[in-house]
Amino acid sequence: MKVRVGGPGVFTRKKFLADVAEIGGDIPDAVARHNPVATIASRGCPVGCWFCIVPKMEGKAFTLLPDFPVRPVLCDNNLSALPADFQDHIIARYQAAGVPLLDANSGFEPRTFDDDVYARWQAINRGPWRFAYDDAAERPYVERVMHMLADVSPRRKRVYVLIGNEPFAACMDRIREVIAWGGEPHVQPFMKLNSLERRPHPRFDWNEQLLRDVARWANSPAIWRKTPFSDYRRSAKTRERYDEQTGMFA
Ligand code: SF4
Repeated sequence: MKVRVGGPGVFTRKKFLADVAEIGGDIPDAVARHNPVATIASRGCPVGCWFCIVPKMEGKAFTLLPDFPVRPVLCDNNLSALPADFQDHIIARYQAAGVPLLDANSGFEPRTFDDDVYARWQAINRGPWRFAYDDAAERPYVERVMHMLADVSPRRKRVYVLIGNEPFAACMDRIREVIAWGGEPHVQPFMKLNSLERRPHPRFDWNEQLLRDVARWANSPAIWRKTPFSDYRRSAKTRERYDEQTGMFA
């Protein structure tokens, strides 16, 4: 039997798998096996965030896939950092095919998500505007993007806030800023890239339960609108769950 393995955890287990399986490589259009309405027009990301698996798996240089099948869910890692002419190419393919872009699933990166990028993708994006606020260094860029999207409803602005990668106070500042700028935070606790289970990994002054509690509080507008985190009390009946689709604890 021929066995081929891939996926996020494989590069940390190479020495155990090398004798029994062929490791890595690309299967064209594999994303469609996961979701038949999904597609991808580029791989990799040049930003190189230390907590992200994309550069390690797919490289720090973009691989462009100009002949990608046009489908409603576009899963590229960082659309705004792609060369402008390739962004135009993707949009033109959607328009020519008459396929609606219902979700730019991994979205845009605040440093490069500027007015030109917004105007370009507004032509076809019918889904939410997804971007991340991962650390304090991104503050001026995220604030600019939030002002740029001021007329977009909070539900169409998906601001992913990574917590646990900086001390507690710095992460809470980022959550509160997203709310103050008119957004709804979508909080994701930091996990180790080689984790074999979906467990937050505490660093700095965090602990695992605190990571889960902040995520649950911040991912529920009905909770944070009524109760500041300092008054939030987790109930034994309302344990958090991990949502596989959003990658968040809720
Ligand atoms: S910008 Fe996004 S996709 Fe690129 S390395 Fe950072 S987290 Fe990963």
